[in-house]
Amino acid sequence: MKPIGVVSFGEIDGMVLKAIAAHILGYLRIDTEIFSPLEYPGYAYDPRRLQYDAGAILKAFESLPVQSYAKVIGVLDADLFVPILTYVFGEARQGGKCAVVSLYRLKNNPDGSKASSPLFLERAAKVALHELGHLLNLTHCEDERCLMHFSGGIRDLDTAPPYFCRYCSVYLHDGLASL
Ligand SMILES: [Zn+2]
Ligand SMILES: [Zn+2]
Repeated sequence: MKPIGVVSFGEIDGMVLKAIAAHILGYLRIDTEIFSPLEYPGYAYDPRRLQYDAGAILKAFESLPVQSYAKVIGVLDADLFVPILTYVFGEARQGGKCAVVSLYRLKNNPDGSKASSPLFLERAAKVALHELGHLLNLTHCEDERCLMHFSGGIRDLDTAPPYFCRYCSVYLHDGLASL
């Protein structure tokens, strides 16, 4: 089976990519490979919203030559939006090839304090696993104790466990088997 690629757009803390890759390997038992950074997606900047268009980044990402990977997770520091939401932690097309994860909103706690490094890395890994779930064909789950539950804010994300419910796990393994 081809590995899951993990890559940054521009420069980010290398620890984050390692944490994401380790969580994917540890949780899903599939090989991961970190590859050299992609160009920062300046083209996706929306000067009206002062944010980056997640859909535009995904579209460009999906057109890159990443055939050597089963799925690819791209990580960046920029604040992402989709038209209907104020911001998103990540974005992926259900059953797609590539997902993006934004670190921008993961660095601070709801009270404005800075998140500890382990908490920040755990959040990044959770968002990455959630988006990988979408790439493996999963939709959002109603169970709050499931990683596929929709996280509208950092509190939701911190409440979500770093694993999938039994129901989603079944679908996840179907998705993995079809890779
Ligand atoms: Zn989602
Ligand atoms: Zn679930």
